Amino acid sequence: MDGFPTDDDLVRQKIEIEDPLLLDSLLQRARPLQEMPVLEHLYNRGSSGKKVPCAYCRDPKFPNHLKGYVLRYSDGARVLIGNRCGEHHFGQQAFKKMVETIVAQNDRRSLLIRRRAVLTAMPEFKRKTLAAVSSPQVQAYGRARRQFHSTLPQVAAAATYAVAAMGGALMHTVQVRNLDAESEREERREREAQKAGKPYVPLRQPIYKDEEQPFGTLKAGDFFMSSDAPERQLAHIVGRLEEIHQQLPALSTKNEMVAAFRGVRDCLQALKSVLDQVDRLPSALSQDNLELMAAWASARKLPGRYATKPGAVEHVNTEGALLIFTAPPMLGATDRQFVQDFENALIATQ
Ligand SMILES: [Zn+2]
Repeated sequence: MDGFPTDDDLVRQKIEIEDPLLLDSLLQRARPLQEMPVLEHLYNRGSSGKKVPCAYCRDPKFPNHLKGYVLRYSDGARVLIGNRCGEHHFGQQAFKKMVETIVAQNDRRSLLIRRRAVLTAMPEFKRKTLAAVSSPQVQAYGRARRQFHSTLPQVAAAATYAVAAMGGALMHTVQVRNLDAESEREERREREAQKAGKPYVPLRQPIYKDEEQPFGTLKAGDFFMSSDAPERQLAHIVGRLEEIHQQLPALSTKNEMVAAFRGVRDCLQALKSVLDQVDRLPSALSQDNLELMAAWASARKLPGRYATKPGAVEHVNTEGALLIFTAPPMLGATDRQFVQDFENALIATQ
């Protein structure tokens, strides 16, 4: 690896290795310094914990390093060297420079390999993400949302507000005793009685006030949000992946590539959270939620009448028409194998 290797060279040649003792042509002892060997590999015995020897140490048979380097002579012979021996033998500055160079090459190699893995796995991932838009679960979710908003518009609007502003807590107005007002009244009456020289007789009449109290909390509240339908979110993710897929081959700096990989990770995250949302449909339309909404709509005195049946909310509007929202039959969880496959492809980049 003389001179700066090309990207293709870097990808072909593994730089960081686990077991340097498996390499060919290992010399036990370093040659006298007539030829400057090149730094070929980094090794890191971290996980195995078995130390390897150093060809520059006093006793070259004594294994004393977990991390170090492989040097290669021009005829292909190799020697192992530890960090301190390297600095001692080649000079601190010179050896540091050699190490920095190979570490930089190794970093770049990781990025290039990751890029190759992303580019290889991307077409299938994009295709499956797009296919998820028309999956039965996503379609059923979209239909249920539209149906909910069209058959129960007032409940839907109020639920949307409750989720956006109160994290799903449904509030209602109740009358509670206003004890402050009662005691103020009694103090006043007592003063007046004193002034008039009459005995004070407490009045036992309660005063009430309106208070907003929680009625219950909606589960899977994102179903009721109007802004982020899963179909739209998935389409947006596909668009973002398309963009990254097109740009990635031409990116050359570390920062550019790291930013693109972050974009891929964000897409993965967003995709998982959309699928999670879709999988919460049974919870959003659970009997509990339907009953809570109907009871709450009645307590809030929303126009018309509300009642529930198993899997349905019935609404008789002010014109006397019957509108029924029926929860769709529940499907199994969304398919995530393609997400797992893509993540695995990215992990297997060493
Ligand atoms: Zn040594």
